[in-house]
Amino acid sequence: SENKAASSTSVAEVSKVFDTILVLDFGSQYSHLITRRLREFNVYAEMLPCTQKISELTWKPKGVILSGGPYSVYAEGAPHVDHDVFKLDVPILGICYGMQELAWINGKNVARGEKREYGPATLHVVDKSSPLFEGVDNSIVWMSHGDKLNGLPTGFKTIATSNNSPYCGIASETKPIYGIQFHPEVTHSAKGKILLKNFAINICKASQNWTMENFIDTEINRIRTIVGPTAEVIGAVSGGVDSTVAAKLMKEAIGNRFHAIMVDNGVLRMNEAENVKKNLGEGLGINLTVIDASEEFLTKLKGVTDPEKKRKIIGNTFIHVFEREAERIKPKDGDEIEFLLQGTLYPDVIESISFKGPSQTIKTHHNVGGLLDNMKLKLIEPLRELFKDEVRHLGELLGIPHDLVWRHPFPGPGIAIRVLGEVTKEQVAIARKADYIYIEEIVNAGLYDKISQAFACLLPVKSVGVMGDQRTYEQVIALRAIETTDFMTADWFPFEHGFLKKVASRIVNEVDGVARVTYDITSKPPATVEWE
Ligand code: GLN
Repeated sequence: SENKAASSTSVAEVSKVFDTILVLDFGSQYSHLITRRLREFNVYAEMLPCTQKISELTWKPKGVILSGGPYSVYAEGAPHVDHDVFKLDVPILGICYGMQELAWINGKNVARGEKREYGPATLHVVDKSSPLFEGVDNSIVWMSHGDKLNGLPTGFKTIATSNNSPYCGIASETKPIYGIQFHPEVTHSAKGKILLKNFAINICKASQNWTMENFIDTEINRIRTIVGPTAEVIGAVSGGVDSTVAAKLMKEAIGNRFHAIMVDNGVLRMNEAENVKKNLGEGLGINLTVIDASEEFLTKLKGVTDPEKKRKIIGNTFIHVFEREAERIKPKDGDEIEFLLQGTLYPDVIESISFKGPSQTIKTHHNVGGLLDNMKLKLIEPLRELFKDEVRHLGELLGIPHDLVWRHPFPGPGIAIRVLGEVTKEQVAIARKADYIYIEEIVNAGLYDKISQAFACLLPVKSVGVMGDQRTYEQVIALRAIETTDFMTADWFPFEHGFLKKVASRIVNEVDGVARVTYDITSKPPATVEWE
């Protein structure tokens, strides 16, 4: 379809501008880290599923990395790399499963080991002249495998060993093809990043030009090329960092031909619509329309208590309102709105192309995906190559205020999933005010940037209290604050008692309808970050 065409063109063009290391993903939980590490030293890397047909690539990689994976190369149905990868005539590095795959192709000498090896090992470099291991000898490397090589693959030599792995590192006798049994991409491998750097820079000769400064120029040109001289683009903004950065980039590329729409769904944070108007509209000069649809959302949410139903109602109502407003702002000069901006990030792209297929749906995500089917718009995704920290860096370079760039994530269904039970205007007001006080205190205590996400939740239970000698019977606020690097796992933030005491006292005193405050001390897993 045309949507797909627009997005795949965009991927290809970045790889044409920046020297690119191709990471072929065999399904390891660490695969995306390989890409991340390479980009950390300014080498662009792109991950594709291991089933990628090499002849269908529209760009030529500077080198290829075969990732680890949960399968056994000798098992029936195990994934295998397209052998055309060797015809590219570029350096190749196989990591764990990737190395076993190289061995399988060159003699099939791979089998189940007597014991699994999981955890640290010390690397002993045998071939001191190997450019792969410059500066990594004797370091701790991280192992995670059950299969092993039973001998050297044809045409290969041993370049490193460890106590349990006689073939810890191998290299082709004639070509820059390497295999390593351990995982250099995880931080437990002390000098893993140096190894990847050796491969990308010294062996593949990739240039270190992947910087956000360079990306801005490339991206603005790319947007102009894709959109053309007259077409218009529409996109939703939420006040969060991703949509703000995407919108600002569009504004830089095509000015007022980009139309940003902010839908006030009635479950936003306190003063959010006004803040977005001020920051994005006035501050960043984005062509913005704010729609107050709060009554419409709250009416649809009436009587609904099931979290998944809430999410679906909000997602669908959003699409409905957005489409209606898009119709209304049709440009008068007859030019059509042709594109829909979406702030998709690279982890979502990885998830959707993953060899393993999309993982289990724990919660339905609120996104505007459904818009495409109805609106016949082509998708434009300027952030689809970027990781979150790259988006933040980009935001800072684009002059977006620090507070906005470093804002905690906020869920699409907003306060509706932080008001447990039925969502009413009154309940939203309570949750919103408690949240406002909590965040204000976090900022005042200088803790905002140390916490990954914090919010207040309104529980649908009543509890007895006493205020001014009067019995009260009111609701409970639960506070949540977590620390995480990737939101896949998280731990609760260890506030000092004095801080919690102050917040609790302010909330009970200042928010009508609350008699009690609790602090959530559950990690993820088993709990999720949000309560619903
Ligand atoms: N499944 C293979 C093994 O157990 C590869 C593991 C991996 O790539 N981490 O050896």
